[in-house]
Amino acid sequence: MIPVHEAWHAILAHARPTGTVRLPLGNALGRVLRTAARADADSPPFDAAAMDGYALRRTDAGRALRVIGAAEAGSAFTGILGAGECVRILTGAPVPAGADCVVKQEDVVRTGDSVQVLRHDGPDFIRRSGENRRRGDIVVPAGTRLGPPELAALAAAGIGEPEVARAPRCAHLVTGNELVPPDRTPTGAQIRDSNSTLIAALLTRLGNELVGQTRVRDDLAAAQAAVAALPAHDVLLISGGASVGDLDIARPLLEALGYTLHFHALNLRPGKPLVFASRGAQLAFVLPGNPVSHWVVFQLFIAPLLDYLQTGAGAAPARLTGRLAEGRVPPPDTRQTFWPCRAVITQGGYDLTPLPLASSGDSAGLVGANALLPVPPPPGSFATGQFVEFIPCP
Ligand code: AMP
Ligand code: MG
Repeated sequence: MIPVHEAWHAILAHARPTGTVRLPLGNALGRVLRTAARADADSPPFDAAAMDGYALRRTDAGRALRVIGAAEAGSAFTGILGAGECVRILTGAPVPAGADCVVKQEDVVRTGDSVQVLRHDGPDFIRRSGENRRRGDIVVPAGTRLGPPELAALAAAGIGEPEVARAPRCAHLVTGNELVPPDRTPTGAQIRDSNSTLIAALLTRLGNELVGQTRVRDDLAAAQAAVAALPAHDVLLISGGASVGDLDIARPLLEALGYTLHFHALNLRPGKPLVFASRGAQLAFVLPGNPVSHWVVFQLFIAPLLDYLQTGAGAAPARLTGRLAEGRVPPPDTRQTFWPCRAVITQGGYDLTPLPLASSGDSAGLVGANALLPVPPPPGSFATGQFVEFIPCP
């Protein structure tokens, strides 16, 4: 059995970030930028009015001024403003040559073509060319995950097809003689396959591509044929059959497929029989079939790995601090324990409630799970109300 951090080292030692693709902005939400985006012009590109009002020379402000034209956003006043003159100007319009300030329209009285300034001791209400950013400045650094503000910054910089990381392609093989699809009623020793739905949803939520998903019986030849029929993939997830029982075909399957096994037992609860293997840049995991183990090892290893394949950085799951609320506090164990919890935001931060799981086969017991609580090994223990570190989970 190896500790969790050693498992991480083994995974990262074999993980190679995916290639790069160009995507239109409309399809790039949630993707990771591979090439830093730079401003292609100063911002603003010209001195612009910050208010609706009149552009003029501040030294002229005491006298009646003649309105000689207008400037609006998208349409400049092209003349040069002289002494005793002003130009009607709207927010965002270029400030005409010759003017050195904009006076708000509330601070003038206009009569026909004449303007009298009432107050001119305020700011100049000019957004200076380049005050936000200079041409060539980085607006979105490489490695950034693109959310709405980042996409808007790319649009403003004229980058309509950013270079982003290709989403990792995942394939999922589900094994088990006992499994029937969710729309069938199990008979005898059968149970419904809930892990297919769980894995598909977890992958989709994180923006990964599930290129294929197949359910097979615990039969080595059938499983080998099923994997061969899956579309090209970066990561192969196999559900169930991780141990060494008669029906546990996953390890022989990986070996038959030419994968090299790196570990097959973790000092982890739940999730001890997690298997990790690689074949060139392709990575494979066997996830212990229990639904709770599935969720936990996905959050601890697979989600951070899929993130790493795009960002090439920051692989370990993030941690937050919260208050342990009422609920059964999971007992310490010699295995490194990560307990599914529900974190809710309260006035003072997060409240964390450990879920009352009946067993690691308790699929419905996971309902509401959005966090993992690392439980300290004995003699450590937790008390209700204590502040604890937890791992937020998608
Ligand atoms: P295994 O890892 O194959 O030994 O399976 C461990 C436990 O998880 C067994 O009780 C299985 O019936 C259950 N299990 C395996 N695969 C699934 C699945 N796809 N959906 C729900 N339960 C499963
Ligand atoms: Mg099985």
